Amino acid sequence: MSRSWKVRRSPATSFPVVCRAVLLFLIGLSNRRPNLVCRRIYTPNSHLPAHRMAEDFRAVTARRAKCGETMIGEGTQSTNQRRHNYVQENVEVGFFTGPTVCIGCKACEVACKEWNEVPDDGFTWIGNSYDNTGRLGASTWRHVLFLEQDCQKGNQITGLMGLSDAQSEDPFRWIFLSDVCKHCEEAGCLEACPTGSIVRTEVGSVFVQNDVCNGCGYCVVSCPFGVIDRRPQPLPDAGGAFKCTFCYDRQKSGLVPACAKVCPTESIVFGRLDDLRARASQRVEQLKQSGYEDAQLYDPQETSVRGIHAFFLILGEPEAYGLPPKPQVPTIYLKSAWTSALLTSIAALIAVLGAFLFFG
Ligand code: SF4
Ligand code: SF4
Ligand code: SF4
Repeated sequence: MSRSWKVRRSPATSFPVVCRAVLLFLIGLSNRRPNLVCRRIYTPNSHLPAHRMAEDFRAVTARRAKCGETMIGEGTQSTNQRRHNYVQENVEVGFFTGPTVCIGCKACEVACKEWNEVPDDGFTWIGNSYDNTGRLGASTWRHVLFLEQDCQKGNQITGLMGLSDAQSEDPFRWIFLSDVCKHCEEAGCLEACPTGSIVRTEVGSVFVQNDVCNGCGYCVVSCPFGVIDRRPQPLPDAGGAFKCTFCYDRQKSGLVPACAKVCPTESIVFGRLDDLRARASQRVEQLKQSGYEDAQLYDPQETSVRGIHAFFLILGEPEAYGLPPKPQVPTIYLKSAWTSALLTSIAALIAVLGAFLFFG
């Protein structure tokens, strides 16, 4: 059923917003990272953040073998195809997405729309790529990027095959990468939301409660990846902020997120975050040994985002995929912003007083 999204109170003057502004001001002055990530639907028994839990790959393999879990290329035994209890067990989960096996079929995009009943966002011909979805948005929670580059892919043979000196001519490669909300460790959207609509779940994902969202849009400008957006008119539920839910409803029932479930090549792998990180590092090494020297992991743990739950194996630089090389949570700029505002106010006051004294 379609809802009407109206701002129920003035976002700038309501009590929670004012309290939050004061809190952010104090955080800015103290020069410390806000501890807002603890606003969870349910607080897990707790463990260290997942990026600090990365286990040695052999240990991970041994544990998975013990409990019968397998992963990439392992067919019906893959974690993409098995039921699980990650929500009940408070296990941090994630997506590891690798473009080297993606075939650009867009089944993940379709499955996401179908399961979540996300409306279409227009059949627009963008004119500069075969990829007409364009970008992530309020009605596109998965987006398969089609990237065409003038360079070689691994040991790819380029030019006219079989003709002697044509091998290095016109290098060209296609890369398909299925992009999604990153479910950041430090999520800008969650920190900015004045209504408490955005929360962190037991599995570490970032979830928007659409019945609480008032459509103020603060999360939209605070996401360092440009993921979350407000849905425009005349689409259903227009005005509210939407993004990937990490299929929280499916996960609560032990089901794998729809996009990972349907991916025929297991380019999207769903599973325990520690397993995925270990597996991703191994995959990068494997690719480098096979001639993919520009393979690397995109998982910005060294920035204020402190790592993401949906990380990517990329070939080349992140900018080519529209991924910021050093994403930052906007609240790290609070101290300088407040200081500038204070200095500007003092300067303005002095100027006004000076004018009164001089001309008065
Ligand atoms: S990628 Fe953006 S929308 Fe997703 S959790 Fe991070 S800040 Fe929020
Ligand atoms: S996890 Fe669910 S909501 Fe998120 S992109 Fe995949 S199918 Fe869509
Ligand atoms: S379903 Fe898998 S192979 Fe198909 S586009 Fe999505 S990520 Fe690529």
